[in-house]
Amino acid sequence: MIAAAAYQQSIDVASALPALQSATVRQECEHFGAAAYRVLTGCHPANAVIDDDFSFDRHVLASILAVAAMESGPVAERAGLAVADLAAMMAHWFPAACGMGFAHGGAAEPDDDETAMVRDLLLMNRSSDSDTSRWLAAMIARRAMEPNHLWEDLGLRDRSELTRLLSRHFAPIASRNTQNMRWKRFFYRALCESDGFVMCTTPVCTECRDVDLCFGDESGESRMADRRREASLAASLAPSAE
Ligand code: SF4
Repeated sequence: MIAAAAYQQSIDVASALPALQSATVRQECEHFGAAAYRVLTGCHPANAVIDDDFSFDRHVLASILAVAAMESGPVAERAGLAVADLAAMMAHWFPAACGMGFAHGGAAEPDDDETAMVRDLLLMNRSSDSDTSRWLAAMIARRAMEPNHLWEDLGLRDRSELTRLLSRHFAPIASRNTQNMRWKRFFYRALCESDGFVMCTTPVCTECRDVDLCFGDESGESRMADRRREASLAASLAPSAE
């Protein structure tokens, strides 16, 4: 049971993340993300230690909220959670951050069909019936609608963290990705198969023109590192004040 005061405070702190964003210029998105992460966890994301399951789950949830805070719009919507669920998650996972007294923010948009399909696929493949895995299913589905690699749009530091997340909380479907297919493509192929459709245009991947889409390299910079590099570049190109 979540205490009423902590629950209300969790609404406030969740809503404070976009305020954090509006208080600074957009070129400092990396700073917003790192600051939001620090508000939630007390450390910079680069320094997070995720050796045990609790620390890992906390890191994942903070990373998703931090990357959502880097974007325009309510954090609840960008993170894919109803406001009540975001508040409950904050009270459960980030109680220390609930006492910071930030103001209330906006509500999530209703899920579109595609988001709902991915979310329901994940819900059907949960490793447990915990609230955390339910929240994660909604968050992963919403972030899967963004254009970058899924691990990037979840705010994670690399793809291995996404694989660990899915293996830990959605083991039934994660264990089926035996060929290390890109996770978004893997979800869509699973959705096609469950509806009796076939996404694949050839019987074997080696003969398929979509092989790069399904199995291409997913390395790259994290969203925060990427924004930091953009800001540095912009600063170096800015005209001198002399
Ligand atoms: S590479 Fe082609 S055949 Fe293989 S999973 Fe992707 S779409 Fe299907």
